[in-house]
Amino acid sequence: MNIKHNTESQRMTFWEKIYLPEIAKGMALTFKHIFEPKMTRSYPEERFVPQGSYRGRPVLVLEESGERCVACGLCSRVCPALAIEVQAAETTTREKERYPVKFEINMLRCIFCGFCEEACPEEAIVMSRDVEMIYENREDAILGKEKLLVPIAQLQDRLEYLRNHQYYEPAS
Ligand code: SF4
Ligand code: SF4
Repeated sequence: MNIKHNTESQRMTFWEKIYLPEIAKGMALTFKHIFEPKMTRSYPEERFVPQGSYRGRPVLVLEESGERCVACGLCSRVCPALAIEVQAAETTTREKERYPVKFEINMLRCIFCGFCEEACPEEAIVMSRDVEMIYENREDAILGKEKLLVPIAQLQDRLEYLRNHQYYEPAS
């Protein structure tokens, strides 16, 4: 049985064979994109400042009276990457009964899911807009309280976003 296969050039129309209209179409598309708004930025000269909806690295909220965390451990229980370690200690000198004597997040494990933030009953852990993370070794990527605690004034964008979009009542 004889089967006839058309070559690529046999399948092309006359206008496709002379290429010029296709070249003109390609150039028109290129010029159209040249004058469209720019979607890229020249990092690091042009910094990226995320909105409150952005989920950067999780941090602990630090108020004037101290850290909000009451060491309930819910964030640690809910974290799918097992990235959070909390050790509680009792306190009699503060308004709350417990505080985290140790609080660590392993940023090599964190997948920025935001579950810890959702689970926290105190609004004590939130996703910041910190996107620039550089670690020179594995130990540096395990962040303790000294690196996790961020003054509440720097987290207002995220807290406001949470109050407008979350299901639970904000901490008073
Ligand atoms: S953002 Fe997700 S993965 Fe990262 S610490 Fe929170 S719960 Fe764990
Ligand atoms: S950050 Fe929130 S959920 Fe995690 S231990 Fe502290 S109070 Fe509990």
